[in-house]
Amino acid sequence: MDSREFRNAMGKFATGVTVISTDVKGTYHGMTANGFMSISLDPALVAVSIGEKAQTLQLIKESGRFGVSILTKDQLHISKQFAGQVPSDVAFHFDVANGFPLIKEALVQIVCEVEQEIVAGDHTVFIGRVEKMVARNGEPLLFSCGKYAELDPQYAVL
Ligand code: FAD
Ligand code: NAD
Repeated sequence: MDSREFRNAMGKFATGVTVISTDVKGTYHGMTANGFMSISLDPALVAVSIGEKAQTLQLIKESGRFGVSILTKDQLHISKQFAGQVPSDVAFHFDVANGFPLIKEALVQIVCEVEQEIVAGDHTVFIGRVEKMVARNGEPLLFSCGKYAELDPQYAVL
């Protein structure tokens, strides 16, 4: 299957945008991802899908934990930074209030312990058991058809 055709089709499934964060011996790292989903309620499980070339893959394997920050519409610059879409040579200031590096003022901050690791083609799906979660009011950043977007105000929920 043609990869561009597949991406164009998958891009029609509109998503939010997250930053997956890691802490390996006190070194913090982040990566933008929309391959995120809620998996189970009891126990609370989520999944993230990480490409085989992403540094984040090895970092999650090393630490056995990862953070998920669901971005707000005002955090577009953060999504671009952690996707390598803008130059960034300055260390990012993570929020470590919950004992793990997360994005400050994200809509939702989650800390997970890796429960299962599934190699699927050129990605690895990590299923994480939610250890901590903080949710705030606000509007999400969206990604659709390869472009960032915001909710139409008539559908926005605070
Ligand atoms: P790097 O490329 O090393 O890091 C990513 C960027 O973050 C770099 O520019 C780096 O400088 C910066 N950075 C990291 N840590 C810090 C820090 N502590 N301080 C300052 N800057 C820092 N890929 C997937 O595998 N799965 C997905 O679901 C996925 N979804 C995506 C969704 C969107 C909307 C976009 C735009 C991209 C998505 N990607 C996804 C692609 C992924 O974000 C990039 O390939 C990313 O560069 C891979 O990150 P990496 O782990 O190799 O880290
Ligand atoms: P795009 O047109 O590549 O993305 C549209 C959709 O295609 C995404 O929402 C995702 O569902 C799918 N997709 C894209 N790349 C994929 C990959 N390598 N593996 C599995 N699914 C993928 O959008 P764009 O603005 O050109 O993306 C910017 C960069 O971010 C590209 O390098 C893209 O590959 C990467 N990206 C990767 C993933 C991922 O690995 N899951 C998801 C989104 C974007």
